[in-house]
Amino acid sequence: TIHADTVLISTGASAKWLGIESETRLNGKGVSACAVCDGFFFRGQEVAIVGAGDTACEEASYLSNICSKVYMLIRKDEMRASQIMQKRVMNNPKIEILWNTETDEILGDEEVKGVRIFNNKTGEKSEIAISGFFVAIGHQPNTGIFKDFIHMDDAGYIKTIPGSTKTNVEGVFACGDAQDNIYRQAVTAAGTGCMAALDAERYLAEFENE
Ligand SMILES: Cc1cc2nc3c(=O)[nH]c(=O)nc-3n(C[C@H](O)[C@H](O)[C@H](O)COP(=O)(O)OP(=O)(O)OC[C@H]3O[C@@H](n4cnc5c(N)ncnc54)[C@H](O)[C@@H]3O)c2cc1C
Repeated sequence: TIHADTVLISTGASAKWLGIESETRLNGKGVSACAVCDGFFFRGQEVAIVGAGDTACEEASYLSNICSKVYMLIRKDEMRASQIMQKRVMNNPKIEILWNTETDEILGDEEVKGVRIFNNKTGEKSEIAISGFFVAIGHQPNTGIFKDFIHMDDAGYIKTIPGSTKTNVEGVFACGDAQDNIYRQAVTAAGTGCMAALDAERYLAEFENE
């Protein structure tokens, strides 16, 4: 047990993956969980993205500005995303939505060359030539160990008092992706990390003066 006068939580959030072997093998070689971060590597190329929520739609739209074509692979025959986001991808001529479609295997030895997909209604398999494969099926904040003490939203992101990194427990501050379900970028994590350090420093100064 370590006793501390203040604690900064910066445990991040982990992307959810499909869990297939080729996804792990080709991670960083054309497989990514962050379109905003890695999209520019695929300028003018064809890519696929898995997911059907608002984030997947937003990332597909973002990729369509950079890539020549975006295949959106959707497991069901409907999307979870809000109507406005659905409209945005459906009306985008560079995005082709493949319904009832799941990933069998990402193809390529050293880098992504394509993806083998299957229709979960008909069982029909087919291959698409792509060079980028994005997974946008959500993130899991690494905050489970704090759940009995720290207030969180339904998804497990730590709630901080707006404009600060303060949590519901005095002296405990949270920063980075563990408390950010929107931006999840290195620069925003570093920014809130700086805020947490300053908040902690001020807290300790007050604490010492008492
Ligand atoms: C593929 C990919 C590419 C990206 N590219 C970019 C990019 O180009 N630009 C950009 O701005 N952002 C990018 N990001 C996002 C960026 O990496 C994150 O926003 C940033 O790392 C979040 O920082 P963090 O410190 O909050 O969490 P992390 O960097 O995730 O660090 C959390 C740390 O806490 C540790 N940890 C977790 N649980 C515990 C525990 N219980 N006890 C102790 N330690 C624990 C973890 O092991 C880890 O070391 C990318 C993300 C991904 C997935």
